[in-house]
Amino acid sequence: MTGRGGERASAGGPATAGGPASAGAAAGPEPAAGVEAPGSEDRVVSPLADADDRLIEGALRPKRLADFVGQGRVRDQLSLVLEGALRRGRAPDHVLLSGPPGLGKTTMAMIIAAELGAPLRITSGPAIERAGDLASVLSTLSEGEVIFIDEIHRVARPAEEMLYLAMEDFRVDVIIGKGPGATAIPLDIAPFTLVGATTRAGLLPAPLRDRFGFTAYLDFYDPAELEVIVRRSAGLLGVALRDDGADEIAGRSRGTPRIANRLLRRVRDFAEVRADGIVNRQVARAALELYEVDDNGLDRLDRAVLSALVRRFGGGPVGLSTLAVAVGEEAETVEVVAEPFLVREGLVIRTPRGRVATPAAWEYLGLVAPDQGGQGQPAGTLFG
Ligand code: ADP
Repeated sequence: MTGRGGERASAGGPATAGGPASAGAAAGPEPAAGVEAPGSEDRVVSPLADADDRLIEGALRPKRLADFVGQGRVRDQLSLVLEGALRRGRAPDHVLLSGPPGLGKTTMAMIIAAELGAPLRITSGPAIERAGDLASVLSTLSEGEVIFIDEIHRVARPAEEMLYLAMEDFRVDVIIGKGPGATAIPLDIAPFTLVGATTRAGLLPAPLRDRFGFTAYLDFYDPAELEVIVRRSAGLLGVALRDDGADEIAGRSRGTPRIANRLLRRVRDFAEVRADGIVNRQVARAALELYEVDDNGLDRLDRAVLSALVRRFGGGPVGLSTLAVAVGEEAETVEVVAEPFLVREGLVIRTPRGRVATPAAWEYLGLVAPDQGGQGQPAGTLFG
């Protein structure tokens, strides 16, 4: 769980989205993400989806591979995998998508089903607590169906073993009875394609990882790509967005489409209430200052992590859990939500001994790193 409110499994069982008849528009109920944004202490740049995001994301998700902005290499590779499978008339390899939240894993899963013209079943790791939960989904799949398991690293252990067999042999062993008298009844299931998504690929057991024929890592987006995404969303939402406004929002979106879309909505509110409804650079800046999103997209949690690392731990190295306690967060939140972007921005490095602040992090806080001659003094006042 990466939210602040403790464990919150996604509600209920799998949801079905789309169907053969709705191929190409695998929209439908938005997945109930197991990783949720914290409610009360909402962060405008959290990459996790809140209820508001889920309502609107259905309308903003690109529906086909050609509309998916960025991630060019993954898109090219995937298009080959899908095209090949379509030509052979067989289900493609299972696909594993990994990367930080909000970068398009769910969107990609929906696109895969749409491109294949196949129905899509959506569930998530936390919803699969027992092998029986998984058996009931797998045994009702139709041929060629795509099943999306979000947060696949959180599937319960016994279900995980069932998944190995299902992925490899399209078979499940249903256990009847308990104790020494229990018997396993093998059940053939229809060939399907599993799309797994994870924010923590390192937690996937090797036997599971190895059963995916195609693995893609989604990386943070460039500002230019985010600008395209923001413009597209503005068009769909009917927001009057100027070029400089799009540029400003893209630059502060932490490389994450979900954040870009959310900032667009916050800035639109601001533009409608405090300005003339048009989103330009000036309006975007004023709105984002109000929401404490800085020029680089860093928000309170990011700054708290940097500040603790530098001011309390002298720049590190410090272990993840110690750092998380210092900022009053769960270790997983720091690791999944804040850290990847801080690492990508060159502010933090991960070493075997713990997290270390780079000189850029000191500079960001207006300090000089000790090995550069200072002792964490405010910049410019070293000896003053
Ligand atoms: P994840 O599953 O990785 O957390 P999602 O697929 O739910 O992320 O994406 C979050 C939102 O960001 C979606 O509503 C979608 O509109 C938008 N989005 C993600 N990737 C892209 C993209 N490449 N192009 C356009 N919009 C995107």
